[in-house]
Amino acid sequence: MKYDVLVVGAGPGGSTAAYVLSRGGARVLLVDIKRAPGVPVQCAEFVPIQLEHKFPEFFTGQAVVQKVKDMVHFTPWGEIVSMPSEGYMLRRDVFDANITELAVEEGTELLLRTRFLGFENGKAWLENIDRRERFSVEARFVVGADGPHSKVAKLTGEHTRNFLTTAQFTMPLKLPLSDLLIYFRDYIPGGYGWIFPKGSLANVGVGIDPEYPINVMHSLREFVREVVSEGIVEDKILGRTGGWIPAEGVKDPVRGNVLLAGDAGGFCHPITGGGIANAVYTGAMVGEALLEGSPEDYEEEALEVFGGTLNRAARKRVKYMKSWDNLEFVIPRTWIAFEEYWKED
Ligand SMILES: Cc1cc2nc3c(=O)[nH]c(=O)nc-3n(C[C@H](O)[C@H](O)[C@H](O)COP(=O)(O)OP(=O)(O)OC[C@H]3O[C@@H](n4cnc5c(N)ncnc54)[C@H](O)[C@@H]3O)c2cc1C
Repeated sequence: MKYDVLVVGAGPGGSTAAYVLSRGGARVLLVDIKRAPGVPVQCAEFVPIQLEHKFPEFFTGQAVVQKVKDMVHFTPWGEIVSMPSEGYMLRRDVFDANITELAVEEGTELLLRTRFLGFENGKAWLENIDRRERFSVEARFVVGADGPHSKVAKLTGEHTRNFLTTAQFTMPLKLPLSDLLIYFRDYIPGGYGWIFPKGSLANVGVGIDPEYPINVMHSLREFVREVVSEGIVEDKILGRTGGWIPAEGVKDPVRGNVLLAGDAGGFCHPITGGGIANAVYTGAMVGEALLEGSPEDYEEEALEVFGGTLNRAARKRVKYMKSWDNLEFVIPRTWIAFEEYWKED
């Protein structure tokens, strides 16, 4: 079968690329190993409000759980710093499914339970996981949107090797919250703890640099102890998840006829871990560049829009976050809510 574009990964990056491409008349095959897009959810589920302005159609149905106003930071030295951070707490499963459905409505062919295996003789090899059947497809372009451990990136060049590791519980909130809470603590090395509200519940998680000799679950349990004793959440675990966050910045986004979007191309913020909006934006950019017949424009645009911010954060991570002591010095230089962050490149 011959396609214009094979998109690997039906997360927000890949599904947005498929949606934009199909809407523009391209013949698109979208594949994902999952049974359903966005399931299981591996996310704290916050997106900035600007994303809704660009793609309001992604926010329909039950995708939005609540609005949030500010991001409030709790430092180990007792300072509390608030920063405007208007946006939405999502149901990622619904949000991801919305985008995939829109792509399919526009004509994308979707194959779930289908794994991308590699390239051979100009063809892409795929496998139907349930039937253990391998087959090949031909496509003029391949979009790698297969997440943090992207196989497409690995097989075509530069790929992310350093990640943050995360663990998260869903817990009942004691009182409703309209802000995102961020905690910097010595027992959450190279990262932070978060409480993100979802109506009567909250996503309570930690992300750490795995090079530190501390287990991520140990760090999460310590964090949970603290926020339960503060009376923010009930001591009850209703769900568990986790995952990996690329922590190096942007990788070559265009490699011949292969283009990378979202986490596969390192478009997740290496310190905050925010990557949903960037995945959607880069997916859309890939789609538009391919429709215009100029993939090299994608490289230029993606680097112009995201390269500076993400690569700067990646440099700061290496410079400051590898020694998790003197947090009063490290945190203001590595977190966007502090003036010090913006003072040096
Ligand atoms: C615990 C946690 C909390 C987070 N919280 C936030 C947050 O609050 N806000 C935010 O903006 N970001 C957050 N992120 C980051 C965000 O989840 C990612 O940046 C975002 O999902 C990237 O989208 P994507 O489409 O690039 O990749 P993904 O969403 O990872 O999608 C990739 C898809 O590719 C598929 N796939 C992988 N390999 C193959 C293969 N070989 N063949 C076929 N399919 C394949 C996967 O099944 C998956 O569906 C968080 C991440 C974690 C781990």
